[in-house]
Amino acid sequence: MGIVGANSSDVEDPQAIGYTSCGACRGSGKTDDGTPCTNCAGSGSVAVFMQPGWSEHHRFLRYRTDLPLRVRSYEERDLDGHCFVMAEDGLGGDLPEPIPVGSQVQLWVAVPTHPVTLHVWAVVRCQIGLLHTFEFVSITDAERLSIRQFCKELGGLGHF
Ligand SMILES: [Zn+2]
Repeated sequence: MGIVGANSSDVEDPQAIGYTSCGACRGSGKTDDGTPCTNCAGSGSVAVFMQPGWSEHHRFLRYRTDLPLRVRSYEERDLDGHCFVMAEDGLGGDLPEPIPVGSQVQLWVAVPTHPVTLHVWAVVRCQIGLLHTFEFVSITDAERLSIRQFCKELGGLGHF
């Protein structure tokens, strides 16, 4: 579905939601001196798991999707990635480089049910490799309604 480098048959651990490029070796599977990366056992990818930190304060269902995502980091740089999980209070996606947990960022995501591209402030709640989850900190009722409508058209992933 929307997760880079993974499909459902690749996910051996039921808790894993996908795989992402290993941050320690940047996906090469090797360290600078050519030995296998210990972080990913030389595979170049690491499993991504449901993060309890994201579920504690989240009560909305997550929905799997695939939308272009733009994130402006605290350094005022724009990063283009993909949103693959959507909820009324946040989203998950991959980016070309990691942004630390706790960072406040601006997000742009074109939700099909909303007349204009959503532009919201959010906080990074979880970051594993290049996968991130964000919690919205500024969202209007109209924006939330559009997300709710969009989510209705998607299959639910459940609470996490
Ligand atoms: Zn590695």
